[in-house]
Amino acid sequence: MITAKARAIDGPDKSFRAAEIKRRDLDLHDILIEIKYAGICHSDIHTAHGEWGAVNYPLVPGHEIAGIVAEVGAEVTKYKVGDRVGVGCMVDSCGDCENCQKGEEQFCLNGQVPTYAGVDKYGEPTQGGYSTHIVVTEDFVLKIPDSIELDAAAPLLCAGITTYSPLNHWGAGSGKKVAVIGLGGLGHMAVQIAHAMGAEVTVLSQTLNKKEDGLDLGADSYYATSDPETFKKLGGYFDLIINTVSAKIDINAYFGLLTLDGTLVNVGAPSEPLSVRVQSLIGGRRSFAGSLIGGIRETQEMLDFCAEHSIAPKIEVISADQIDEAYKRVLASDVKYRFVIDISTM
Ligand SMILES: [Zn+2]
Ligand SMILES: [Zn+2]
Repeated sequence: MITAKARAIDGPDKSFRAAEIKRRDLDLHDILIEIKYAGICHSDIHTAHGEWGAVNYPLVPGHEIAGIVAEVGAEVTKYKVGDRVGVGCMVDSCGDCENCQKGEEQFCLNGQVPTYAGVDKYGEPTQGGYSTHIVVTEDFVLKIPDSIELDAAAPLLCAGITTYSPLNHWGAGSGKKVAVIGLGGLGHMAVQIAHAMGAEVTVLSQTLNKKEDGLDLGADSYYATSDPETFKKLGGYFDLIINTVSAKIDINAYFGLLTLDGTLVNVGAPSEPLSVRVQSLIGGRRSFAGSLIGGIRETQEMLDFCAEHSIAPKIEVISADQIDEAYKRVLASDVKYRFVIDISTM
């Protein structure tokens, strides 16, 4: 067993504390990663606070992991000691089912193994990246291109792939009009990626507070959704809308912004059901869809795409003692645009 230093939380209302956790000895295809940086994703907060169902505490969150290979199992072929690598939201899947065979492991019919708050094939609870080391089977490890700094690479493993995958799947590109709802951790990645894919990009945000940032990131235009004129002006305009907001919004108003055959994709997951006025989909043959991260192959493609187009998240690096404070700031939307924990401060 390998002992790793970590930051754990013991219950929904608790603070993070220093902890030691065990990582398994390396199996034939396992890789031991020395974690350098871990991003803070909104999902970490939902899970740590027990908002997405019962959690086995103590919990070590973190599924935006960037580090260096420290040791490899006897039959590992894809990586060697010293390689720069990442781990995202899942660490294993069955590998045999129809969806795994297609490279869509996130939709494994037998259940993919989440990086934390899951149970691995050895029956052990999984613990995430707010720790100094992690052991992951080589098929779920990503190569971080040399041109991407490790701290900036971390958020790509969730925020990057969560937005890249639907943009790729629904064909954002030259001649396509794409809107991004919300300019937060996910939204600021969606804008950069859609722009690099060649689409015309519009940000739809509650206010114009972050307009300058949005345009700097590559948006062609920026509108406030608090202004009713926005919905009149942009009616029937977009081929694709990516909704990154997990709070409840009036989704029907946004359907009206889609053109013929347009699609609105939710990547944020509101905790309460949304009320959909089907008429707004029927008129215009519009679709309402969802998307969950991406498969391993597509995640590697996203990392390579970001390297090629010099895309990186805007981050604020914090120490391990600042996790509680960072959670409060994420909940107050007071972050531009992703917190990343410097694991050397553990
Ligand atoms: Zn995430
Ligand atoms: Zn499977």
